Amino acid sequence: MPSLYKPEYNDDGTLGSVTALDGAPSKVTKRIIENLDSAFYPTKAIVPSTEIVHDRVVLELFRGCVRGCRFCQAGFAYRPVRRHSTKFLLEKAKASLMDSGYEEITLSSLSTSDFKGLAGLTDGLLEWCEPRRISLSLPSLRADNFSMGLMERVQKVRRSGLTFAPEAGSQRLRDVINKNVTEEALLDSCRVAFEGGWNTLKLYFMLGLPTETDEDVTAIAELAEKVLRTWRQYAANRSRGVKITVSTSMFVPKPHTPFEWEAQVAVDEYLRRVKLLRESITSRSITYNWHEPHVSLIEAALSRGDRRMGAVIEEVWRRGGRLDSWSDYFSMERWLEAFKACGLDPDFYARRERGKDELFPWDVVDLGVGKRYLAREREEAYAGRVTPDCRVKCMGCGASLLLEGRKCDE
Ligand code: SF4
Repeated sequence: MPSLYKPEYNDDGTLGSVTALDGAPSKVTKRIIENLDSAFYPTKAIVPSTEIVHDRVVLELFRGCVRGCRFCQAGFAYRPVRRHSTKFLLEKAKASLMDSGYEEITLSSLSTSDFKGLAGLTDGLLEWCEPRRISLSLPSLRADNFSMGLMERVQKVRRSGLTFAPEAGSQRLRDVINKNVTEEALLDSCRVAFEGGWNTLKLYFMLGLPTETDEDVTAIAELAEKVLRTWRQYAANRSRGVKITVSTSMFVPKPHTPFEWEAQVAVDEYLRRVKLLRESITSRSITYNWHEPHVSLIEAALSRGDRRMGAVIEEVWRRGGRLDSWSDYFSMERWLEAFKACGLDPDFYARRERGKDELFPWDVVDLGVGKRYLAREREEAYAGRVTPDCRVKCMGCGASLLLEGRKCDE
């Protein structure tokens, strides 16, 4: 309840203190549902009369993530991992499909391939879905434990394009961000996919990650070339050709992550790296798309803004801003005018590296993972050291303290 927390700002615009009023706790601790199966699960989805973006049944497998990708807010904010049982999921999937009439179901979580018993779940779903001509899609697969068996199970009904998100082109930078995917594992997954008949592959990356160099940028092009060579070598049917799409977005530092102290790169610098990458991609089988950087700059300002940002958002709206994440409607000029009218600067929020001990507006919220843990993870990032996932070793991030037994079940 923001009205119970009074902020004071320093002369340089940073947050000086936050005082809790009327007996409010100095920190608000996140509440979690420990046993997901015991909580309400909606199966009667509203079916719109027009086509929408996620026009299918979405089955949530689990919350949280055992990985620790250092840029990922959801990965830290939703810890600890809590799973549904396979039996529960099969029941809810059937009920949701019957109630909605949808002909497609997808599995949702932060890292679907980490779901224990995924093969059993997909088998169970396909057994019920196939005779009814309902298709199953598996998004967010990791490139490291992607299996032929799983792919074959899914492709029986309908084959869609594949998407992998290595996030960075070089192993060095993937270690910095703790994206524990090796080039070998990625190419192996591609080999399996091409042998299985896939010929459309999307690869997602970020530009502007902390410590990124030009070698890391051109490594994206080299990786895409290696994927193409893998296709040439292993494709089941080369006559259909191949379509590899490389997409980059501009890194947006997020609160509650080890990169919450980081500065975002300047728009011009991002565009220079885009150009470098575009020129490094020479094959016509590889398409390169990049995300509009001005939107990412505003995202970065909003992401780590304080409550003064509320006035900016209102001002944008007063000046006619609507549906701004739609590029047709986004106007950078309008945002800059609104910032100016409020006496604020987007660069202060987006492009400023925070001091080690700076108080953050979101420090009043305790999500479990401690700030000291995040700071340690940042140091590990700069040292290029990876942190194992929760199944290998608990690193004591603090999220288990939210559980009654104070212990994660990984
Ligand atoms: S407490 Fe340990 S096992 Fe639990 S989420 Fe944190 S690092 Fe992972």
